[in-house]
Amino acid sequence: MKIKFMSLFFFFLFIGCTPKLKETKIETIIEENSHYKIGMNYPITQYKKIDRAISSYINTCYQDFLKEQSENISLDTVEELNIDYTLYENEDLISITLFKTKNEEEEIQTYTYSLKKNVFLSPEDFVSLSTLYSMANTLLFERFGNVLDLSLLKENLHTNLFSIDHEYFYLYYPPSTLSKKYKDTIIIDIPLKKLNMQVEKTINVNQEIMEAEIDLEKVNSIIEMNKKVIALTFDDGPSSHTEDIISILKENEAVATFFILGNKVKTYENVLRKSLEYGNELGNHTFNHKWLTKLKDEEIKKQIEDTQNIIYETLGYTPVLFRPSYGSINKRVREDISLDVVLWNIDTMDWKYKSVSKIRDRATLNAEDGSIILMHETYERTKKALPEIIQILKEKGFVFVTISELKQIETLRKYNE
Ligand code: ZN
Repeated sequence: MKIKFMSLFFFFLFIGCTPKLKETKIETIIEENSHYKIGMNYPITQYKKIDRAISSYINTCYQDFLKEQSENISLDTVEELNIDYTLYENEDLISITLFKTKNEEEEIQTYTYSLKKNVFLSPEDFVSLSTLYSMANTLLFERFGNVLDLSLLKENLHTNLFSIDHEYFYLYYPPSTLSKKYKDTIIIDIPLKKLNMQVEKTINVNQEIMEAEIDLEKVNSIIEMNKKVIALTFDDGPSSHTEDIISILKENEAVATFFILGNKVKTYENVLRKSLEYGNELGNHTFNHKWLTKLKDEEIKKQIEDTQNIIYETLGYTPVLFRPSYGSINKRVREDISLDVVLWNIDTMDWKYKSVSKIRDRATLNAEDGSIILMHETYERTKKALPEIIQILKEKGFVFVTISELKQIETLRKYNE
């Protein structure tokens, strides 16, 4: 155990030494009503020019979607807007791709920005158009044969939709730019090696495998004392509030369960590690908050598996719990998921209520032994309400447990009956 802690200590020391000028954050906005579901995830880089460009794009997508909704409200359809992203950054550049899906319709937006020159970059800043064309041509022919009209590639080659990471140069072609038959966005990923380009690799740190062990001593002591237990749960994170939330929990000797989105795990790796160390539990809340009941089986499975994989690869931790995005689940989705599905019985509605005291009251007034409280770690007001929520529940005699502990306790209680 000692060795484990020592190596963790060095791990944090190492992370602390890594030069990083500005800290990227990921914003998640979730909204729903009876007509629509909106899930938008996007990075905030702290570089003004990129952030302004991204927030203006996000805002336009959002306003356009709301406008369309208000213009054609139909009682029997629910529309969905989802925005997901990929992000690559090193000391020289940041490259971001936004993937917007409106119902079935896809749209891609990219931003590649030089940190040294403070300008947006275009493909020609990396490689000549003729090299790009010959590479793209070969790759497309290998993959699609004659399905695509390669003469269209030449006409459309000059795309500003491109991104880069440590392995590939990506070109994006919107639906039907390269083929009338092929309806999806075409992504051409050219290995950097083939372009004789080298981009600095992100640092990979040896990972410490952490097992999500349940502290049976703690569980048993709770049972013996026959205390009332309660589980706080936070959805849609991690976020810029996570650090504060886990500190508040720790200061108050409380724990919670966080249902997190796979697409934010890498950015918030350090705080997630800390959260696990503090005894909190992590659950799977899909990769990018798509509305699952609208997806095909293989897409549902991909949402879950991609999230499990990135959590394991980043933290060496395997979640056993799942909470569906928008709490929306049916028999088919259930059959696609092998994890334990966890909903809630107390909804703070913190997405709706702006008042801290309202959130506090909703969390605490109807609390019972075994209650699961739903909150979101994306709101400042929820964070503000947390100390009082914990205090009131403590005064009422509750002990805070994670969902897995709650399940253990329920099993043990049944056994002891
Ligand atoms: Zn959610």
